[in-house]
Amino acid sequence: MPRHINIPIFIPHVGCPNACVFCNQRSISGRMDFDPALVDGQIAEALSTVGAEDTCEIAFFGGSFTGIDRELMLYLLGVAQRYVDDGRVMGIRMSTRPDYIDERVLSDLSRFTVRTVELGLQSMDDRVLAASGRGHDRECALKACGMIKQAGYELIGQMMIGLPMSDSQSEVMTAREIIGAGADGARVYPTVVFYDTELACMTERGEYTPLSDGEAVERTKNVLSVFADADVPCIRVGLQSSENLADESKVMGGANHSAIGELAMGELYYERICREIERRGIRGGELTVYVSRGSVSKAVGQKKKNKSRICQKYGIRRIKVLEKNQIMGYNIILEHNT
Ligand code: SF4
Repeated sequence: MPRHINIPIFIPHVGCPNACVFCNQRSISGRMDFDPALVDGQIAEALSTVGAEDTCEIAFFGGSFTGIDRELMLYLLGVAQRYVDDGRVMGIRMSTRPDYIDERVLSDLSRFTVRTVELGLQSMDDRVLAASGRGHDRECALKACGMIKQAGYELIGQMMIGLPMSDSQSEVMTAREIIGAGADGARVYPTVVFYDTELACMTERGEYTPLSDGEAVERTKNVLSVFADADVPCIRVGLQSSENLADESKVMGGANHSAIGELAMGELYYERICREIERRGIRGGELTVYVSRGSVSKAVGQKKKNKSRICQKYGIRRIKVLEKNQIMGYNIILEHNT
């Protein structure tokens, strides 16, 4: 089956004068060395591993792409564009910050086949943004979203769970505002506390308490539910598992569970199945739960947790979870036999 592949080019912290409390870009991207001359080779190497049927985008991730030195940005876009012109990739995507979007940046991007701009919004709550040292406010974020949509790009809103001064209500509000701003998709990152960050110092001073896995799962589930209700896909939950994330010496605390996304999606399925059982007054008997393609393991839950919880709670003898092509997102259909 053809896949969509992002060929990631990590540009760690290049050109970023900001100091978000959670950010240690070295730990997140796993590399600090960046040599623009190597980018062409990295793309070619990545393309040699993809199938002829796969669709690819070259993705400048890891920093604030439109905030780097303009000549470097144009050079990198030019390298990527050659692969678009050759027909080997369909377009270019990038991640950046809201305050690095303006008319000039959009004019530069319009010279290349940029399809998607991912904005690190993190929160739409000014108190949270200030406490996290983001250096921009909600108004700036909304303006950038509007300009990106107006320019015709796909917009992906990135947000975080568990930032300083944040709570579930603030995160749900952020998800709603990202949807309202026209996002075509979202990424949700529960906060991981890396050493050598201000957040680690705040934790040591007792000014911040890292998320437990349980809190991260619950609060992530709450925003996934908001995005699901609006049919806005979450294309990623949690940081990629990388050596540094697995490396205990780099991570002080927070949502560092490698399957945090699966766990949160499992909780969302549990909530939705329970809601439907309650609505229909189902008790006992046998249940078949139909879910969207590729979602069976999430609906079943890790170690079949959802199945056993539902059987116990509602006295159900047996649950089957099956996929059905017509079902989209987190929608479910229940069949009950007494
Ligand atoms: S803007 Fe991005 S790269 Fe810069 S400090 Fe914040 S999170 Fe790190």
